[in-house]
Amino acid sequence: MAEAYKIIDHIYDAVVVGAGGSGLRATMGIAESGLKTACITKVFPTRSHTVAAQGGIAASLGNMGPDHWTWHMYDTVKGSDWLGDQDAIEYLCREAPAAVYELEHAGVPFSRTNEGKIYQRPFGGMMQNMGQGPAAQRTCAAADRTGHAMLHALYQQSLKYDADFFVEYFALDLIMEGGECRGVIAMCMEDGTIHRFRSHATVLATGGYGRCYFSATSAHTCTGDGGGMVLRAGLPLQDMEFVQFHPTGIYGAGVLITEGARGEGGYLTNSEGERFMERYAPSAKDLASRDVVSRSMAMEIREGRGVGKNKDHIYLHLDHIDAKVLAERLPGITETGKIFAGVDLTRQPLPVTPTVHYNMGGIPTNYHGEVVTLKDGNPDTVVPGLFAVGEAACVSVHGANRLGSNSLIDLVVFGRAAGHRIAEIIQPGTKHRPVVAAADEAALTRLDRYRHAKGGSPTAEIRLEMQRTMQADCAVFRTAKTLGEGIEKIDRVYTRLEDVGVTDRSLIWNTDLIETLELDNMLPQAVVTMHSAANRKESRGAHMHEDFPNRDDANWMKHTISWFDKGSVSIDYRPVHDYTLTDDIDYIKPKARVY
Ligand SMILES: Cc1cc2nc3c(=O)[nH]c(=O)nc-3n(C[C@H](O)[C@H](O)[C@H](O)COP(=O)(O)OP(=O)(O)OC[C@H]3O[C@@H](n4cnc5c(N)ncnc54)[C@H](O)[C@@H]3O)c2cc1C
Repeated sequence: MAEAYKIIDHIYDAVVVGAGGSGLRATMGIAESGLKTACITKVFPTRSHTVAAQGGIAASLGNMGPDHWTWHMYDTVKGSDWLGDQDAIEYLCREAPAAVYELEHAGVPFSRTNEGKIYQRPFGGMMQNMGQGPAAQRTCAAADRTGHAMLHALYQQSLKYDADFFVEYFALDLIMEGGECRGVIAMCMEDGTIHRFRSHATVLATGGYGRCYFSATSAHTCTGDGGGMVLRAGLPLQDMEFVQFHPTGIYGAGVLITEGARGEGGYLTNSEGERFMERYAPSAKDLASRDVVSRSMAMEIREGRGVGKNKDHIYLHLDHIDAKVLAERLPGITETGKIFAGVDLTRQPLPVTPTVHYNMGGIPTNYHGEVVTLKDGNPDTVVPGLFAVGEAACVSVHGANRLGSNSLIDLVVFGRAAGHRIAEIIQPGTKHRPVVAAADEAALTRLDRYRHAKGGSPTAEIRLEMQRTMQADCAVFRTAKTLGEGIEKIDRVYTRLEDVGVTDRSLIWNTDLIETLELDNMLPQAVVTMHSAANRKESRGAHMHEDFPNRDDANWMKHTISWFDKGSVSIDYRPVHDYTLTDDIDYIKPKARVY
């Protein structure tokens, strides 16, 4: 039985957990519709990881050459290696231009062409003419600080509407009753008070779980708390085996160098000075899809052509680009190169290596942002009251591999869609049913247990073991052997949570406790990721299984869904949506994926 915590009740029509790009866009839309809305966030909104997005946001505006939403759709389907749901992808690509203009009007200071239009750069996998090429300039950018600009504009806009912000509140668990979500329990980190938010719609916009790997470009706050809550609620996560490695994380530091760097003409070389991407992807070269470039780099390193003392990384060249262009288009990464690699990139190449960057998997939803699950044979059963958007969600538009600049657009398109859906199905001021105590009892028992945990394993030690295991055994290349060992190791790491020790017992800014709760959110997702990867006996997108090097559409064109119950994983499947939303475009049939 948990200690008696002081519980403060709040009544809302809708609650959004997370204030990154997706959470803010959802909050803004829901509040605008007149519903009483709260946004809960563990970091100040403009410190969410979206702030770090550099390269840009994809939309077929056609400002710098011909473009069409159907071309964007083709590229996204191909990028997903045919695991994306084509109804959702159609929705994304059709709505993208309007969503970007909306950001422009909200005050995002996009870079401009000479005619004053939004500047667009080429990005990996973005082509003209249904994949035929040449490259499409589709990625709208505010220099190399696009996410920063977006987040500030969205936060300012959401303050204009009547949403209440609960900043530095840590959401602990969903309030689930009879299979429906009725709100969320959170802790105010400043004073340790417990807050019970009743809501008819709860939107999880908690971002990715990249930090379960050792080297990741994502912020330390990207611990997948929403996914952890969903697993504890007995609901599944989807396609967790698909983890994106970005080709250009700074060697050692893990800090990202945007794909925009290659978009502006940057290229990779090996120890022989060779531009090796010409061999792996003769037409798209350095701008092939991320999984392709990361694998090619890993292959070069493996075959002894890596650079540096240990031959374990690759060079990215920008030194041939006019310094004026670098200063104007890529000012942030010029600085990053100096600080994190000690390199003046106008003169020297940058040391880079594939680094964990994005989670394609997440909480399964339909294109309205409603969370779905497989129940009584129906793979599209909506979980009433529960929504997910952004990197926490799996719509799925990115399938087995996300194209660069397609996440930022996913945040705003589906953040907006969830807002529309919620406004459609909920009447402002609808009465709440009385609270059932059992629902929050479990959340408080968990909190209490970790707060007083006296085991011999410090949180940081278990976390490091998890991160090293994921980095070693669930990486760019996977084999039955590494995954088999990985399962054993990660399952064992999970059992160490039983023995976790927390030293701080207070409730005032107890970072030891918060990091332990975050670890308890991440670790089950690491376990599920490893098991799902071992289970998928083919190679598709970011999942490269060397014992099964080919894509196997006959057996594996399906979404993995995985449940987690006290250490054990169960797996089932949802079909990929092989239909589009309208008659304007036909289903794009699977083909070999070459760049
Ligand atoms: C370095 C970097 C560069 C990138 N560049 C690009 C790019 O150029 N183009 C592109 O398309 N994509 C890019 N991406 C990917 C993209 O930025 C992310 O996928 C996206 O920003 C995620 O947004 P989000 O709204 O889902 O979550 P986030 O921005 O990660 O925000 C998560 C929010 O959830 C809150 N939260 C989490 N857990 C809790 C909890 N327990 N309680 C309360 N609140 C909680 C946090 O406080 C935060 O507000 C980049 C990613 C990285 C890491």
